[in-house]
Amino acid sequence: MQNFTFHNPTRILFGQGCIANIAPEIPAGARVLITYGGGSVVNTGTLAEVRQALAGLTLFEFGGIEPNPTYETLMRAVTLARDERIDFLLAVGGGSVIDGTKFIAAAVPFVGEPWDILARHAPVTAALPLGSVLTLPATASEMNAGAVITRHATQDKLFFVSPLVFPRFSALDPTKSYTLPPRQVANGIVDAFVHIAEQYLTYPVDAKVQDRFAEGLLLTLIEDGPRALAEPENYAVRANLMWTATLALNGLIGAGVPQDWSTHMLGHEITALHGLDHAQTLAIVLPAMLQVRRLAKRDKLLQYAERVWGLTDGDAEARIDAAIAHTRAFFESLQVPTRLSSYGIGPEAIAPLVAHLERHGMTALGERQDVGLACARQVYEQAL
Ligand code: NAP
Ligand code: FE
Repeated sequence: MQNFTFHNPTRILFGQGCIANIAPEIPAGARVLITYGGGSVVNTGTLAEVRQALAGLTLFEFGGIEPNPTYETLMRAVTLARDERIDFLLAVGGGSVIDGTKFIAAAVPFVGEPWDILARHAPVTAALPLGSVLTLPATASEMNAGAVITRHATQDKLFFVSPLVFPRFSALDPTKSYTLPPRQVANGIVDAFVHIAEQYLTYPVDAKVQDRFAEGLLLTLIEDGPRALAEPENYAVRANLMWTATLALNGLIGAGVPQDWSTHMLGHEITALHGLDHAQTLAIVLPAMLQVRRLAKRDKLLQYAERVWGLTDGDAEARIDAAIAHTRAFFESLQVPTRLSSYGIGPEAIAPLVAHLERHGMTALGERQDVGLACARQVYEQAL
C-alpha cells in the first residue's frame, strides 16, 4: 500500500426526509445563495422543500446552471454573490450544480481572472462555505473536493481540486432520485462504475481493503443498477445506489492506491467537442482504454475478471477479453452505447480530440503517466 493522507470533512445526512434537517448545518444569520439547474428541482418540489427547511434565513436564488456547467453562467452567479454579500452557498441538484457551486465558492473571493483556477491551476486560497442537497447519484461531488467546468467560448472542459470546496454537509435523500429520467439513472451508474475503475484497475499494491471496497461497490452497481431502472421507486435499491456513488469517489477507495483518470480526461474532450453526456463518453472510452492498456493492467484485470464477473475459465488472455466484454455489455444493458459511431462520430473526429488533449497538457496520463498522445489516439481509434 502507498503512503497517504485521508481527510474527508463532509457531513452526510442520509435518508428519506433528511432535507428537513439541514438548517442547523448552516451558520445562523447567513445570507444563503441557493443554486440549481434547469428547473427539475422546481418541478419536483425539492426547491420548495429546501426553502421550507431554511425558513427564517436570508435566501437568494440562482437557477440555470446547465449540465456540464459553464464558466459563462457561473460568473453571473459570482457577480450576484459578490453584490449580495453572500456568505453560504447551497447547491440543490446533480453533479453539475454542485461542481458549478464549488467554482462559484472559489471564484467569489478570487483576485484576478477566475478562469485561471482551471486553466493555470491558480491556487485557491479562500472559498465561500457550501453545502449540497443531492438529486442525482453519480459524481460524488457531494463528498469530494473536485469540480469540472466548461468554457463555452473555447470548448474547454477542465477540472480543479481544492480542499476548501469540500461541501460542509450534503443531504442525500434517495427518494429525490425517483424522478430521474432513465438516461440520467443509467448515466449515474456508469459514472460511478468508471470512478471505481479509475482507482481499482491500476497496478496492484496489495491494498486489500481498498480492493475489496471497490469490488463491493462494483458488485452493488451490477446488482442494483438494472433494478433501479426496472423499479424506479424501490427505496432500498435507490439508497444502495446513492451511497455507492458517493463512496465511489469520496477518497476512501483511492487512498493508498495508484489512480488512473485517463478515461475521464479523454472523455472530457469528447463532451467539450461533441456535447455528449459525461457518462456517455466514459462508456465509450473505458472498454477501449482497458483493451489498449491490457498488458500494463494485466494483474488487476485478472482479479477483476474473477472477483467481479466470476470468470475463472480459460487462459488469462481469454479471461481479460471476457472481463472487458462484460464491462461493455453492462453499459449497453443500461442503454448507454459504447462506441463513438453510435453518436455518428467518425475517424475524422480523432485528430481534433487529440489536439485538445495536447492543448490542455494531457500528455502523460494514467497511473504510470504513460498514456501519451499516441496512446490516446489509439484508444479513440479503438473506441470508434
Ligand atoms: P447533471 O448534469 O447534474 O444533471 C443531468 C440532468 O439531470 C439535468 O438535466 C438535470 O436537470 C437532471 N436532474 C437532476 N436531478 C434530477 C431529478 N432528481 N429528477 C429529474 N431530473 C433531474 O448530471 P451529473 O451526472 O450528476 O453531473 C455531470 C457533471 O458532473 C459533468 O459535468 C461531469 O463532468 C461532472 N463530474 C464531476 C465529478 C466530481 O468529482 N466533481 C465527477 C464526475 C463527473 P436540471 O438541470 O433541470 O436540474
Ligand atoms: Fe465522472
